[in-house]
This record gives sequence, structure tokens and C-alpha cells, in this order.
Amino acid sequence: MPAYFKPQGSIRKAPHSPSRDRTRQRIKFSDERVCKSHLLNCCPHDILSGTRMDLGECLKVHDLALRADYEIASKQQDFFFELDAMDHLKSFIADCDRRTDIAKKRLADTQEEISAEVAAKAERVHELNEEIGKLLAKAEQLGAEGNVEESQKVMDEVEKTRICKREAEEIYRSSMPASSFQQQKLRVCEVCSAYLGLHDNDRRLADHFGGKLHLGFIEIREKLDELKRIVAEKQEKRNQDRMKRREERDREERDKMKRRSRSRDGRRHCSSSREHKRKTRSRSRDKRHHRSRDRSRDRSSKSKSSREERTSRDRDRSRERTHKKRSYEFANGKSGEPSSEEPEAGEI
Ligand SMILES: [Zn+2]
Ligand SMILES: [Zn+2]
Repeated sequence: MPAYFKPQGSIRKAPHSPSRDRTRQRIKFSDERVCKSHLLNCCPHDILSGTRMDLGECLKVHDLALRADYEIASKQQDFFFELDAMDHLKSFIADCDRRTDIAKKRLADTQEEISAEVAAKAERVHELNEEIGKLLAKAEQLGAEGNVEESQKVMDEVEKTRICKREAEEIYRSSMPASSFQQQKLRVCEVCSAYLGLHDNDRRLADHFGGKLHLGFIEIREKLDELKRIVAEKQEKRNQDRMKRREERDREERDKMKRRSRSRDGRRHCSSSREHKRKTRSRSRDKRHHRSRDRSRDRSSKSKSSREERTSRDRDRSRERTHKKRSYEFANGKSGEPSSEEPEAGEI
């Protein structure tokens, strides 16, 4: 059974146990024991509480005061908690979708086999049924908000859809014996994995599609899509910033090299003119000897400059490492060494 849907009854803790209150006083919102989804107002344990699929208490700390702290602090600094929340919701929805698949398979195994053609006709009735349920829930919502005119418009749509459904039902009925038709045909809701009946009445369907469970799952799925978008955007921005930093560093290095090689050229020019003077003064000197001295001078100045380069690169890199480490500490709210550091391309 997927981890999320284990029966929770016996392991549920009282929401206000003394140890919990003590923890609450101690920890900060950035503590890893705090539920980041709760801080971002999207923990399934909150959203589905009180429904048929109540998950019980979350394993991580939920505290509205910490959420308030986070909301204030996040105006000044990006903690990137969306990544944690996204992983949490992803695994929750994956569990739910696995459940839906299992339920579908079970239905396929137990329900009477029908031909693909008849199955398609039943499918059409299911679709219209669900459409009616959704529209009714919407009309009720609008009515409750006092929007009578809009609500009436939606009710007109419900009437039209009912007519379509009766036609679809007639087509489906005529394609099979009456006894088979009377059997309740079930189908699994793709959003919340609950069972829906082909012959469920409108009231039942409206209760399902306007119910806390189904709407809660819609909320979680929408939130997950939003988190995926935010995470992708932030990661893209981070990559761009990193690339910009690297380009700047390369440019600085190139400028440094250019300056250095220019000054070296200047020196070489100087020495050769001196040499020229010397040469004109004394033609009897061994030229080969001169050349070898020049070469050794060149070599020593080259090795010196590459040493300079290396040390400045080291300095840059160690500066960047401290910076990285610091931002890691912020994001995770702890001072330990990062477990794995993302290696940067181009770094040795
Ligand atoms: Zn939680
Ligand atoms: Zn549903």
C-alpha cells in the first residue's frame, strides 16, 4: 500500500502534546523538521483534513505562527522552499495516481466484460454524468455566493446536458440486454480516485464534484502545477545568474592577462634595445649565449605569471565556495556541511 494511505488511527498523536509545544518554542521556520508545504499553504494533510481521505497529522511540524514568520522573512530573501513542497506534493500525487490505477485494474477484473464498442457508449454516459455533477456543484456555489443570475445560467446548461445524457443512455441501453444494463457500472474518478456509479443520481454526483475531497484534490493538483512552474523559473534564473557571474569572471581574467602580456612586451622591447646597444658596442660577444639567457628569462617570467593566475583563480573559487555554502545554510536553516555540492562545469 502506498505510504500515504496507511491507516493512521493508532499512530495519531494528540495535536497539543507537551513535547510538541516545547519544539514549537525552540525551532525556526527554516528548521528541517518544519513542513515546507504547510508554510506554503499546500500540505495535503491540511487540505484533506476532515474528508474521507483524512491523512491524520503530518509527520513534520505545522504551525501557523511559523508560517507568518516565513511570510515576512520571504519578502526579504528567497528560501526556495517551493522545491521541498514540490517534491512532497509530487510524491503524494504519484501515490494517488497509483491508487487510481489499482482501482481501475480491480474494476476491469471484476466487472462484466463488455465489447470496446459498448464500453465507449458507457464512457459517453459517464462523461455526461460527470459534466452534470460538476455543473450542479458550480450552480450551487454561485447560488451560495448570492450570484443568482449566473447560477440560473449554469442550471440551464445542466438541463441541456441532462437531455444529452438521456440520449446517450438510450444508445447504451439498446446495445445490451436489460439485465446487464441494470447492473451498477463503476468508474474511478481521475482526480481523487473515488468510485463513481454510472447510475448515480444528480444529487450524488453534485455532492462528489462539489465535495471537499474532490475539490481538495483539485487544489493539490493545481498547487503542484504552480510549484513546478515556480521551481522551473527560479532554477532558470539561477542558471542565468551563475552563467553571468562566470562570464564576468572570465572577462576579468582575460583583461588581467592582456594587461600582463602588454607589460611583458614592454619589458622585452626594452631589453632588446639594450641588447642592440650592447651588440653595437661589442661585436665580438657570443650571440648564442645572449639568446639562451633571454630564453631563460622568458621562461621564469612566464612561470611567475601562471603562478599569479593560479592563486587569483584559487582565491575566486574559494570565495565562491564560501558564498555557496552560506546560501545553502540559509536555505536549509542548518550549519552543517552540504552533503553534496553541485559541481560547476568548467571548474577543476
Ligand atoms: Zn505537512
Ligand atoms: Zn473525484
